[in-house]
Amino acid sequence: MPLIVPAPRCSICGKAIRKGRNTCHDCTIKRPEYNYGRALYEYRSVQDSISRFKNVGRVEYGRFYGRQMATLLAEEIGKMNAEAIVPVPLHRDKLIYRGYNQAAILAKEISDYHNIPLREDLLIRVRKSEDQKKLDVFQRQNNLKKAFHIAQNDVKLKDIIVVDDVYTTGSTINTISSLLKEHGAENVYFLTLAIGKGM
Ligand SMILES: [Zn+2]
Repeated sequence: MPLIVPAPRCSICGKAIRKGRNTCHDCTIKRPEYNYGRALYEYRSVQDSISRFKNVGRVEYGRFYGRQMATLLAEEIGKMNAEAIVPVPLHRDKLIYRGYNQAAILAKEISDYHNIPLREDLLIRVRKSEDQKKLDVFQRQNNLKKAFHIAQNDVKLKDIIVVDDVYTTGSTINTISSLLKEHGAENVYFLTLAIGKGM
């Protein structure tokens, strides 16, 4: 059963936190590059079906989940007032292998439902991130920064929502947010289907 991330939630990353806190441990230590974001479900409760969606070709799960994000997070999405929805891109090799980008499937549903243009052309993943596990935090961050390129010099979009399936450490969304901001975006928000627990 998918479980919606319960309140209270971190006002920045949206993870469930203890009562009396406003932000989670991670966001308190280091303020993320994005403005703020929301995830719909607790990761553990949807872990298996996300894995089927990603690895066994169950695209219909993705459409269903994308629609869930669009409707259940409608109020938050409205407040973000975004001009574009940008899915976290896959590397070309991975896209060919899998046949679809799971983040783009979620993003398309949100885009259709809220009438916000889907921009799959804005970001390109130029490197695979498979070898990240061997690296320390600093190397990881550095490596990740080189993994994405902006396809155009001037983004010309003020408010952008980045969409991904899972928020784990937030490093991917952070990297993309700082790239988009360096290229002219003013506000970057995120939406993910699932997120882990905060402290
Ligand atoms: Zn947080």
